[in-house]
Amino acid sequence: MRLGNAGGRLLLVRGEDRGIDVAVASGGRFGPDPHDALDRWAEFAAWAAACTAEPDVTFTPAELGPPVPRPAQVFAIGINYREHADEAGYPPASMPVTFTKFPTCLTGPDAVVELPTPTVDWEVELVVAIGLRAERVGRADAWAHVAGLTVGQDLSERTSQLEGTRPQFSLAKSYPGFGPTGPWLVTPDELDDPADLAISCSLGDEVLQESRTSRMIYDIPELIARLSAVCPLLPGDLIFTGTPSGIGNARTPKRFLVGGDVLTTTIEGLGSLRTRFTGPREAA
Ligand code: ZN
Repeated sequence: MRLGNAGGRLLLVRGEDRGIDVAVASGGRFGPDPHDALDRWAEFAAWAAACTAEPDVTFTPAELGPPVPRPAQVFAIGINYREHADEAGYPPASMPVTFTKFPTCLTGPDAVVELPTPTVDWEVELVVAIGLRAERVGRADAWAHVAGLTVGQDLSERTSQLEGTRPQFSLAKSYPGFGPTGPWLVTPDELDDPADLAISCSLGDEVLQESRTSRMIYDIPELIARLSAVCPLLPGDLIFTGTPSGIGNARTPKRFLVGGDVLTTTIEGLGSLRTRFTGPREAA
Protein backbone atom coordinates (compact mmCIF):
# COMPACT_ATOMS: atom_id res chain seq x y z
CA MET A 1 0.00 0.00 0.00
CA ARG A 2 0.94 3.64 -0.42
CA LEU A 3 0.17 6.15 2.35
CA GLY A 4 -0.05 9.86 1.68
CA ASN A 5 -0.54 12.96 3.81
CA ALA A 6 -2.86 15.48 2.17
CA GLY A 7 -3.36 18.58 4.31
CA GLY A 8 -2.58 16.61 7.48
CA ARG A 9 -5.03 13.77 6.72
CA LEU A 10 -3.81 10.23 6.12
CA LEU A 11 -4.83 8.72 2.77
CA LEU A 12 -4.58 5.28 1.23
CA VAL A 13 -3.34 6.44 -2.17
CA ARG A 14 -4.86 5.06 -5.35
CA GLY A 15 -3.31 6.04 -8.67
CA GLU A 16 -1.38 9.31 -8.69
CA ASP A 17 -3.97 11.82 -7.49
CA ARG A 18 -6.73 10.03 -5.60
CA GLY A 19 -7.04 8.48 -2.18
CA ILE A 20 -9.23 7.05 0.55
CA ASP A 21 -9.48 9.21 3.66
CA VAL A 22 -8.50 6.81 6.44
CA ALA A 23 -10.40 8.57 9.24
CA VAL A 24 -13.61 8.57 7.18
CA ALA A 25 -13.28 5.04 5.78
CA SER A 26 -12.43 3.59 9.19
CA GLY A 27 -15.37 5.35 10.87
CA GLY A 28 -12.96 7.12 13.21
CA ARG A 29 -11.15 3.97 14.33
CA PHE A 30 -7.99 5.67 13.05
CA GLY A 31 -7.65 9.43 13.26
CA PRO A 32 -6.56 11.64 10.37
CA ASP A 33 -3.03 12.06 11.78
CA PRO A 34 -0.58 9.75 9.95
CA HIS A 35 1.11 9.02 13.28
CA ASP A 36 -2.09 7.49 14.64
CA ALA A 37 -1.72 4.69 12.07
CA LEU A 38 2.04 4.36 12.61
CA ASP A 39 1.59 4.11 16.39
CA ARG A 40 -0.75 1.12 15.86
CA TRP A 41 0.97 -0.18 12.74
CA ALA A 42 0.05 -3.90 12.88
CA GLU A 43 -3.62 -3.10 13.55
CA PHE A 44 -3.66 -0.42 10.88
CA ALA A 45 -1.92 -2.54 8.23
CA ALA A 46 -4.47 -5.33 8.72
CA TRP A 47 -7.37 -2.87 8.44
CA ALA A 48 -5.89 -1.18 5.35
CA ALA A 49 -5.26 -4.50 3.58
CA ALA A 50 -8.95 -5.35 3.96
CA CYS A 51 -10.27 -1.86 3.14
CA THR A 52 -12.64 -1.96 0.16
CA ALA A 53 -13.68 1.73 0.19
CA GLU A 54 -13.65 3.70 -3.05
CA PRO A 55 -11.38 6.75 -3.34
CA ASP A 56 -13.16 9.81 -1.96
CA VAL A 57 -10.39 12.45 -2.10
CA THR A 58 -8.39 13.98 -4.94
CA PHE A 59 -5.20 15.92 -4.39
CA THR A 60 -2.49 17.81 -6.25
CA PRO A 61 1.23 17.19 -5.47
CA ALA A 62 1.45 20.62 -3.81
CA GLU A 63 -1.21 19.56 -1.30
CA LEU A 64 0.89 16.63 -0.07
CA GLY A 65 2.88 17.03 3.13
CA PRO A 66 5.63 14.72 4.36
CA PRO A 67 4.14 11.21 4.70
CA VAL A 68 5.61 11.00 8.21
CA PRO A 69 5.30 14.57 9.48
CA ARG A 70 6.46 14.43 13.13
CA PRO A 71 8.96 11.61 13.77
CA ALA A 72 10.18 11.43 17.37
CA GLN A 73 13.65 10.58 16.08
CA VAL A 74 15.32 11.11 12.72
CA PHE A 75 18.51 9.17 12.11
CA ALA A 76 20.68 10.13 9.16
CA ILE A 77 23.67 8.20 7.90
CA GLY A 78 26.67 10.15 6.66
CA ILE A 79 28.78 7.80 4.57
CA ASN A 80 26.91 4.79 3.25
CA TYR A 81 27.86 4.35 -0.41
CA ARG A 82 31.44 3.38 -1.26
CA GLU A 83 31.89 5.93 -4.08
CA HIS A 84 30.56 8.72 -1.84
CA ALA A 85 32.96 7.66 0.94
CA ASP A 86 35.76 8.06 -1.61
CA GLU A 87 34.63 11.50 -2.84
CA ALA A 88 34.00 12.76 0.71
CA GLY A 89 37.41 11.54 1.85
CA TYR A 90 36.12 9.44 4.77
CA PRO A 91 37.26 5.86 5.34
CA PRO A 92 34.36 3.52 6.18
CA ALA A 93 33.91 3.35 9.97
CA SER A 94 33.01 0.32 12.07
CA MET A 95 29.73 2.04 12.99
CA PRO A 96 27.77 4.06 10.46
CA VAL A 97 28.39 7.82 10.76
CA THR A 98 25.10 8.93 12.36
CA PHE A 99 23.61 12.38 12.90
CA THR A 100 20.09 13.83 12.95
CA LYS A 101 18.01 16.10 10.81
CA PHE A 102 15.86 18.00 13.30
CA PRO A 103 12.23 17.20 12.42
CA THR A 104 11.19 20.82 11.74
CA CYS A 105 13.20 20.58 8.49
CA LEU A 106 10.77 18.07 6.98
CA THR A 107 8.65 19.18 4.06
CA GLY A 108 6.55 17.57 1.36
CA PRO A 109 7.20 16.23 -2.13
CA ASP A 110 6.42 19.43 -4.06
CA ALA A 111 8.02 22.10 -1.89
CA VAL A 112 9.55 25.54 -2.34
CA VAL A 113 12.71 25.87 -0.26
CA GLU A 114 14.52 29.12 0.50
CA LEU A 115 18.30 28.80 0.20
CA PRO A 116 19.88 30.41 3.32
CA THR A 117 23.33 30.70 1.68
CA PRO A 118 24.94 30.14 -1.76
CA THR A 119 26.45 26.77 -0.62
CA VAL A 120 23.47 24.43 -0.32
CA ASP A 121 24.01 20.94 -1.77
CA TRP A 122 21.82 18.01 -2.83
CA GLU A 123 21.85 14.42 -1.44
CA VAL A 124 19.26 11.93 -2.72
CA GLU A 125 18.47 9.35 -0.02
CA LEU A 126 16.20 6.39 0.55
CA VAL A 127 14.25 7.03 3.76
CA VAL A 128 12.98 4.22 6.01
CA ALA A 129 9.98 4.70 8.33
CA ILE A 130 9.74 2.46 11.39
CA GLY A 131 6.39 0.75 12.09
CA LEU A 132 7.13 -1.40 15.14
CA ARG A 133 9.32 -0.46 18.09
CA ALA A 134 12.77 -1.94 17.47
CA GLU A 135 15.09 -2.52 20.41
CA ARG A 136 18.23 -4.65 19.93
CA VAL A 137 16.75 -6.16 16.77
CA GLY A 138 18.86 -8.55 14.71
CA ARG A 139 19.30 -8.44 10.94
CA ALA A 140 16.84 -11.29 10.35
CA ASP A 141 13.98 -9.47 12.11
CA ALA A 142 14.77 -5.96 10.88
CA TRP A 143 12.40 -5.69 7.89
CA ALA A 144 9.46 -6.75 10.11
CA HIS A 145 9.93 -3.44 11.98
CA VAL A 146 9.70 -1.28 8.84
CA ALA A 147 6.40 0.41 7.94
CA GLY A 148 7.55 1.64 4.56
CA LEU A 149 10.03 3.48 2.38
CA THR A 150 9.93 6.93 0.86
CA VAL A 151 12.09 9.28 -1.21
CA GLY A 152 14.17 11.88 0.63
CA GLN A 153 16.59 14.74 0.06
CA ASP A 154 19.21 15.46 2.72
CA LEU A 155 19.75 19.10 1.74
CA SER A 156 22.99 20.32 3.28
CA GLU A 157 24.48 23.78 3.94
CA ARG A 158 28.15 23.01 3.31
CA THR A 159 29.77 26.15 4.76
CA SER A 160 28.45 25.66 8.30
CA GLN A 161 28.78 21.87 7.97
CA LEU A 162 32.49 21.97 7.20
CA GLU A 163 33.92 25.24 8.60
CA GLY A 164 34.92 23.96 12.08
CA THR A 165 37.60 21.49 13.07
CA ARG A 166 34.95 18.75 13.20
CA PRO A 167 32.08 18.34 10.72
CA GLN A 168 28.83 19.88 11.97
CA PHE A 169 26.26 17.68 10.31
CA SER A 170 22.98 18.04 12.20
CA LEU A 171 22.37 21.81 12.28
CA ALA A 172 23.78 22.36 8.80
CA LYS A 173 21.25 19.88 7.41
CA SER A 174 18.20 21.17 9.32
CA TYR A 175 17.27 24.57 7.88
CA PRO A 176 13.53 24.91 7.08
CA GLY A 177 12.66 22.71 4.11
CA PHE A 178 15.97 20.81 4.16
CA GLY A 179 14.18 17.46 4.49
CA PRO A 180 11.83 16.97 1.51
CA THR A 181 10.18 13.52 1.73
CA GLY A 182 7.42 11.73 -0.15
CA PRO A 183 5.41 11.60 -2.26
CA TRP A 184 4.08 8.70 -0.15
CA LEU A 185 5.14 5.95 2.19
CA VAL A 186 5.32 2.67 0.25
CA THR A 187 5.16 -0.65 2.09
CA PRO A 188 7.99 -3.06 1.16
CA ASP A 189 5.57 -5.68 -0.24
CA GLU A 190 4.80 -3.26 -3.12
CA LEU A 191 8.39 -3.59 -4.41
CA ASP A 192 9.96 -6.52 -6.30
CA ASP A 193 13.19 -6.09 -4.34
CA PRO A 194 13.12 -3.34 -1.70
CA ALA A 195 16.88 -3.77 -1.20
CA ASP A 196 17.80 -2.90 -4.81
CA LEU A 197 16.16 0.28 -6.14
CA ALA A 198 17.47 2.75 -8.72
CA ILE A 199 18.12 6.10 -6.97
CA SER A 200 18.88 9.42 -8.66
CA CYS A 201 18.47 13.17 -8.65
CA SER A 202 18.66 15.70 -11.46
CA LEU A 203 18.39 19.37 -12.40
CA GLY A 204 16.41 19.51 -15.63
CA ASP A 205 17.98 17.01 -18.05
CA GLU A 206 21.25 16.82 -16.12
CA VAL A 207 21.59 13.78 -13.87
CA LEU A 208 23.52 14.73 -10.71
CA GLN A 209 23.50 11.44 -8.81
CA GLU A 210 22.63 7.94 -10.00
CA SER A 211 23.12 4.63 -8.21
CA ARG A 212 21.28 1.66 -6.72
CA THR A 213 20.34 1.18 -3.07
CA SER A 214 21.97 -2.27 -3.21
CA ARG A 215 25.30 -0.41 -3.18
CA MET A 216 24.88 0.73 0.43
CA ILE A 217 27.76 -0.18 2.76
CA TYR A 218 25.30 -0.76 5.64
CA ASP A 219 22.03 -2.06 4.18
CA ILE A 220 18.64 -1.49 5.81
CA PRO A 221 18.76 -4.58 8.10
CA GLU A 222 22.28 -3.66 9.18
CA LEU A 223 21.30 -0.05 9.93
CA ILE A 224 18.30 -1.16 12.01
CA ALA A 225 20.42 -3.71 13.87
CA ARG A 226 23.22 -1.26 14.64
CA LEU A 227 21.04 1.75 15.49
CA SER A 228 18.60 -0.29 17.62
CA ALA A 229 21.54 -1.76 19.55
CA VAL A 230 22.01 1.79 20.92
CA CYS A 231 18.61 3.59 20.72
CA PRO A 232 15.17 1.95 20.64
CA LEU A 233 13.61 2.88 17.28
CA LEU A 234 10.02 4.07 17.69
CA PRO A 235 7.01 3.87 15.36
CA GLY A 236 7.22 6.82 12.99
CA ASP A 237 10.98 7.27 13.34
CA LEU A 238 12.83 7.95 10.09
CA ILE A 239 16.23 6.79 8.88
CA PHE A 240 17.85 8.76 6.03
CA THR A 241 20.12 6.02 4.72
CA GLY A 242 22.91 8.04 3.09
CA THR A 243 23.65 9.35 -0.38
CA PRO A 244 25.59 8.00 -3.37
CA SER A 245 28.36 9.95 -5.13
CA GLY A 246 27.74 13.06 -7.22
CA ILE A 247 27.23 15.77 -4.59
CA GLY A 248 28.07 19.34 -5.59
CA ASN A 249 30.69 19.89 -2.87
CA ALA A 250 32.89 17.10 -4.30
CA ARG A 251 32.89 18.54 -7.85
CA THR A 252 35.63 20.59 -9.47
CA PRO A 253 34.65 23.36 -9.41
CA LYS A 254 32.23 22.96 -6.51
CA ARG A 255 28.63 23.47 -7.47
CA PHE A 256 25.60 24.39 -5.37
CA LEU A 257 21.90 25.11 -5.73
CA VAL A 258 20.77 28.56 -6.88
CA GLY A 259 17.41 30.31 -6.87
CA GLY A 260 15.23 29.08 -9.72
CA ASP A 261 16.66 25.54 -9.67
CA VAL A 262 14.11 22.71 -9.66
CA LEU A 263 15.58 19.51 -8.24
CA THR A 264 13.94 16.20 -9.17
CA THR A 265 14.66 13.30 -6.82
CA THR A 266 13.53 9.81 -7.82
CA ILE A 267 13.64 6.29 -6.41
CA GLU A 268 12.39 3.31 -8.41
CA GLY A 269 8.98 2.16 -7.21
CA LEU A 270 8.63 5.01 -4.69
CA GLY A 271 8.09 8.07 -6.90
CA SER A 272 9.65 11.51 -7.22
CA LEU A 273 10.12 14.72 -5.28
CA ARG A 274 10.11 18.10 -7.00
CA THR A 275 11.87 20.77 -4.98
CA ARG A 276 12.01 24.38 -6.20
CA PHE A 277 14.53 26.81 -4.72
CA THR A 278 14.47 30.57 -4.15
CA GLY A 279 17.43 32.99 -3.55
CA PRO A 280 19.92 34.06 -2.35
CA ARG A 281 21.53 33.84 -5.80
CA GLU A 282 19.33 33.41 -8.87
CA ALA A 283 20.21 31.27 -11.88
CA ALA A 284 21.85 33.29 -14.64
ZN1 ZN B 1 23.05 12.62 3.66
